[in-house]
Order: sequence, then C-alpha cells, then structure tokens
Amino acid sequence: MENILEEFKKFLSEPRNLLILSHKNPDGDAVGSALGFKHILTAMGHTVTAAVPDAAPGFLKWLPGHKDLIIFERKNGKKAAAEAFRTADMIICVDFNSPDRLGDLECLFRAGTSPTLLIDHHPPQEQFTDMTRIDPTRGSTAELIYLMAVSLEMEAMISPDAATCLLAGIMTDTVGFKVSCSYPEIFETVASLMRLGGNKDRIYEEVYGQFSSDRMRLLGYSLVQKMKIIPGTGAAYIDLTRAELKQFNHKKGDTEGFVNYPLSIGEVIFSVLFTEQEDHIKLSLRSTGNFPANEFASRYFNGGGHLNAAGGRFFGNMEQALKHFEGAVEIYQGLLTNSKS
Ligand code: 5GP
Ligand code: MN
Repeated sequence: MENILEEFKKFLSEPRNLLILSHKNPDGDAVGSALGFKHILTAMGHTVTAAVPDAAPGFLKWLPGHKDLIIFERKNGKKAAAEAFRTADMIICVDFNSPDRLGDLECLFRAGTSPTLLIDHHPPQEQFTDMTRIDPTRGSTAELIYLMAVSLEMEAMISPDAATCLLAGIMTDTVGFKVSCSYPEIFETVASLMRLGGNKDRIYEEVYGQFSSDRMRLLGYSLVQKMKIIPGTGAAYIDLTRAELKQFNHKKGDTEGFVNYPLSIGEVIFSVLFTEQEDHIKLSLRSTGNFPANEFASRYFNGGGHLNAAGGRFFGNMEQALKHFEGAVEIYQGLLTNSKS
C-alpha cells in the first residue's frame, strides 16, 4: 500500500495526462469520485479527463464538472473517449471491481497500454489493474479518494467543488448516512470535506429533494400495487415492466432508492427491485444484517456488489425472472432465516 502511494506520488511529480473511468449506470459515488478526483488532479497541474459508459441520472447532473464528463454512449462520446485513451499516461478506475462494469468502454480499456490504477471499496473480484487501492471497510470510493489525497499531501488541492463531489459520493453511497457508515472516522472525513467547502445542504436538496411528480407517483404505485412480500421468508420485491415505467414517464434514475423501502418493514431483510430494460431485466438487491446480497446476485443473476447492496441482470422475461428469484429465495431460506436478528 505504502509502495503504491509512493509510486503514484512519484508518477504525479511531473504534469501528466490522466484518464479517470467509472462504471455503467453511474451512481453518486461513481460520478462524485471521478469528478472529485479530476478536480484535485487538475488543481495539481495535470490534464485530466473523466469518462463513464452511459449517462448518470438527472439528480447528479448539477455536480461541478459534470458537463465535461465524457459519456461514451453519447454522440461525441466515442471519439472523445478514444482520444482520451490514446493520450493517457495513466488510467485510473474508480468504484468498480471488474472490467465488465465498464460496459461498452471495456474494449477500449482492454486494448489500452497505459499503466492502470484502481481505487475502490467493493470486495475485490479479480486483479485487472497494475496498481490497486481497495478498502471494502469504507462506505464509498469517494472517501478513499479523500484519504488518498490526504496521504499524498494533496489536501490543499481540494477545492469546494472537489469537496462537494466527494461528499456527494459519500452521502449517496451511505444513503444519506444510513448504511455502511457505522465507523466514526467517516464523520471526520465528512467534517473535513465540509470545512473545505463541501456543500452538504445542496447535495441533499439536489439528490433527494427534486423528485418529479411522475417519480413520486411511480414510487406510490410501486409500494401500493407492486410490492410483494414472500410470506415467511424475509424477502420482498417490486417488479416494474417497461409499460409501467412508461405510464409514469420514467426517466433514468427515477427508480433509484425504491429498493430500500421494503427494508423498513420489520420482517423484511432482503429486498429486490426488478426493472425491465430493452433486452434484459435489471435487478437492484439490498439486505440488512449479514445476508449476502452480492453472493446471491453473482450466483443467480450475473451480478455482484457489496454484502448489503448489489446489482444483477437476468436474460429473459419478467415472469421468468421472478420465478428464478423465488426459486433462489427458497434455496437461500436457511440463510435468510439465520440472518434475521
Ligand atoms: P445498484 O442497485 O445501485 O445498481 O447497485 C448496487 C451495488 O451493486 C453498487 O455498488 C454497484 O456498483 C453494484 N453492482 C450493480 N450491478 C452490478 C453488476 O452487474 N456486477 C457487479 N459486480 N456489481 C454490480
Ligand atoms: Mn461506491
């Protein structure tokens, strides 16, 4: 670890071209970490580009620097990304633990010849970069970037914009300081970022206080009409088809957070949201206690993630996905029962 920091510090001792990449369906930690680190490294005199495979939800677009984020699936994204890969002295991956999370950027990444560094807080899956800085005990990658900046004596380079991006990563990945933050050090980082100008109130308002009425009604519909609790199992799910999403003028990010609601029910310790996409069913999985949502996702739904927050995919229709899920819940019944406190 010390070696990596020393090596990275030495590498940054002259002006570099850096490319920061984050994952598909970018969330607040992906975008906040990429943009936050970009601000810091730019302030140090480096030329930095940040790229993601596809667009972030609307409630993240206000983040400082978002307008310069390369979105690969967009019209100019492919050319800009190819150029950034061509000129990069180093590629820095943030907030993902396997290259397939790069979606359509994976090919460019695999073809690249520049040295690579990964900064992440997911449990490690495979070594795919030359250097890694992984710490699954932290609630977000953004926190790791702040700590890394401190270790590299770069704290003075953290502008209010950088602090706001990193704080947004921390706040969103901990669901507003609810999960993955039961260690006091995180609040020391939060305090430092606020002192550096991180705007907690704006983050809260932009991320959690700007629902469209359609989004709020879709939430109501999901809870009243679609939430199902599988009796006696501790598992609940919500399934939304494309037709249902369309009915509520669904925009990217509108279902973000819906999966957390069933966990507020006493008996529920495992909650899954199924959303129908063009060619597959997307799953968001959340659990409480020690039920391994990531293991369940990787075993049955081509996914992975954290113990209590994971994602996955099912290739088939909704009915088949739900049947597959109910079968898997049956197999996991013992562990579900044992995970109840
Ligand atoms: P979400 O439900 O918000 O899409 O994802 C929850 C968590 O699981 C995030 O930490 C995300 O990075 C991770 N995740 C989502 N989809 C996948 C996937 O397909 N593979 C892996 N390995 N992780 C995923
Ligand atoms: Mn994260």
